[in-house]
Amino acid sequence: MTDIRVRFAPSPTGAPHVGNIRTALFGYLWARHTGGKFILRIEDTDQAREVENGLELILESLRVLGLQWDEGPDVGGPYGPYEQSKRLPLYQEHTARLIAQGQAYYCYCTEERLARMRADQKARGEQTRYDYHCRNLSEAERAERERAGAPKVVRLAVPRGGKTTLRDFIHGDLTIENKNVDDQVLLKSDGFPTYHLAVVVDDHLMKISHVMRGDDWIPSFPKHVLLYQAFGWDIPPHGHLPNVLGPDKKKLSKRHGATSVMQFRDEGYLTEALLNFLARLGWSYDDKSEVFARDQLIDLFTLDKIEHAPAIFDLAKLDWLNGYYIRALSDDDFAARAAPFVPQTDAATLRALAPLTKERVKKLNEIPALVDFLFEEDLEYDPQTLIGKGMDAASALAALRAARATLDKHVSFDDEEKIEAELRADAEKLGMKNLQFFGALRVAVTGKTVSPPLMSSMRILGREKTLRRIARAISALEYL
Ligand code: GLU
Repeated sequence: MTDIRVRFAPSPTGAPHVGNIRTALFGYLWARHTGGKFILRIEDTDQAREVENGLELILESLRVLGLQWDEGPDVGGPYGPYEQSKRLPLYQEHTARLIAQGQAYYCYCTEERLARMRADQKARGEQTRYDYHCRNLSEAERAERERAGAPKVVRLAVPRGGKTTLRDFIHGDLTIENKNVDDQVLLKSDGFPTYHLAVVVDDHLMKISHVMRGDDWIPSFPKHVLLYQAFGWDIPPHGHLPNVLGPDKKKLSKRHGATSVMQFRDEGYLTEALLNFLARLGWSYDDKSEVFARDQLIDLFTLDKIEHAPAIFDLAKLDWLNGYYIRALSDDDFAARAAPFVPQTDAATLRALAPLTKERVKKLNEIPALVDFLFEEDLEYDPQTLIGKGMDAASALAALRAARATLDKHVSFDDEEKIEAELRADAEKLGMKNLQFFGALRVAVTGKTVSPPLMSSMRILGREKTLRRIARAISALEYL
């Protein structure tokens, strides 16, 4: 087998979309599975579409998922530079070579002429495409335009007859008529390459062994194959990966919510869950397995298991996986990952909270709402919430007074079981349901009707704060 070299080749046009990062992940997995190289190449030849921190957003997206690249703009490598804007002379040399071989030509057509040409083609109900005008120029006509210094581009002279077979290891073979392929622009008038030229030259020079990219590039594939043929180069295996669609079967976009891995991270999704989830967008090991750790993905990932049907981005599944991975964290690990979401607390408290909250959240950003009662001095809430179903102010008051008397007898709240048994006995004595008694106590202590387990909450909150809150709740009810 040749050395496996797979590239991720994003354009720095903004935070990469999760669909794009899924493509990066497949490349990474295939490289790691085979012991090959994962290469990052920045396709920055369309300067109008670039955003200022585009490169950083790409690097950060890959880092969020731990997709470490072996060669790239920042780490270098034997086939650099890895930013296309720094490779302009290479593209120019390569087009010069094609021109010398008669496989490419200068085109001097103005924008106005091209617009007219397209309008005429449309009016005749034809597909719009270049009409070979400059391909047919005589030497004299060409020389005249050169003398006049007319702006020019370079176009590929696509064979006008014959057929070409496109091989795609995901979609199978497709044979096309060469005459249907446009004489595409290779080099623009500003000396920059088009995507089509740059991608072929770079995949060849960087010795890419497998090209994987989104299937929205399928329409460009004939152009690339013909360009490989013009250069006389072997075409590495190409696979066009299934598109990622929203649950409504439309292309995933901002309408569907977060679209970058940074956004998902900031919402409290774990790397493990994102990695697992993205790997399953267009790849499946069998028809039942859903949970895959990074090592397993690397171990099991093969190209023949890539699917060709579009992948559906199912947020409910991501939430499920995230909950699964959160529950699996050790208490220490949970505390460390939760820390940025609850900055007002310390590591020891977070660790104490871990067993109480792990089971109750699907995302780390749900933790604050669950535990913020611990960090507030005094709670502000509507005293009516202390009065549960089937209770009145008097019975809520009786419950809280009994609870206070019981709790007051304990110097520490560590023995949760004992305290709970005593409080249950209080409820029974008052002829109240546990739900009513503990409901009032829960609201008094946490300010919420839903909270982490009450006994543990009181233990972590501490005796003094707990009793103070109950006292305040009692006086609120007394003044009702
Ligand atoms: N620069 C292209 C993009 O942003 C890369 C396509 C390819 O991988 O060939 O999607």
